Amino acid sequence: MKHTPRKRFGQNFLKDQSVIEAIIMAIAPGKTDLVVEIGPGTGALTQLLLRTLPRLHVIELDRDLVEKLEKAYPADKLIIHQGDVLQFDFTKIVARTDQKLRIVGNLPYNISTPLLFHLMPLAKQVHDQHFMLQKEVVERMVAEPGSKAYGRLSVMLQWQYHMDMLFIVPPTAFIPQPKVDSAIVRMIPRPQPEKCDAKKLEKTVTQAFSQRRKILRNTLAPLFSENDLIDAGIDPARRPEEIPVEQFISLANRLP
Ligand code: SAM
Repeated sequence: MKHTPRKRFGQNFLKDQSVIEAIIMAIAPGKTDLVVEIGPGTGALTQLLLRTLPRLHVIELDRDLVEKLEKAYPADKLIIHQGDVLQFDFTKIVARTDQKLRIVGNLPYNISTPLLFHLMPLAKQVHDQHFMLQKEVVERMVAEPGSKAYGRLSVMLQWQYHMDMLFIVPPTAFIPQPKVDSAIVRMIPRPQPEKCDAKKLEKTVTQAFSQRRKILRNTLAPLFSENDLIDAGIDPARRPEEIPVEQFISLANRLP
């Protein structure tokens, strides 16, 4: 499928067939799975997914690509949703079935973090997510307490998902080549994430990591007393990157 890549849509198309095959093997689509691909582009993953799947939903913003995809695949096989994935209501797809969604995509890097947050409220209706993202973002997603990459993204996502970085993909696998390495991440929603209000957790974690080098007694003072911290099991003299997810949740639940 011929197309001139557009930078503003984050278009880096996969060209390395062995990488494409490795991603499909990691996803391991099953005939009866309900799969949605975000940003099918020129169809590098789409084509191989459709080897197994009788039907596939795709969400694509670029109208030129949508036109080309419509010509390339029958409408009952490839269900195309033209538009911005950040505005897309995924419940439209799950509403008609009791099946859980499998969401996949080589994501446009400029929207990757907002997209991960857009998908979080949907976690209960999702079986799994496989995404290609900048390696550095995946490192932040899976980072453990005590590491430099551990921060707001790690806490928010680890609250809702089990995550694994599966493999790294070099710039040479794409056309045009991005400047940085990419990685494939697998995200599986936790069956019973601890109860917490997402907004409260976000407020807590954003404040905690606003000054990474400072101790929490000082950084969190606008939101919590020292006793709140102690009650949540947190030593007030610690820095945010040392605090496990469960303790942030316990603390966030103390917000009024
Ligand atoms: N899947 C293809 C591949 O692997 O070669 C293309 C991946 S490319 C990195 C990202 C794709 O997402 C492009 O096709 C781009 O047009 C599309 N895209 C960008 N922003 C989008 C958005 N907000 N909503 C939906 N699709 C978007």
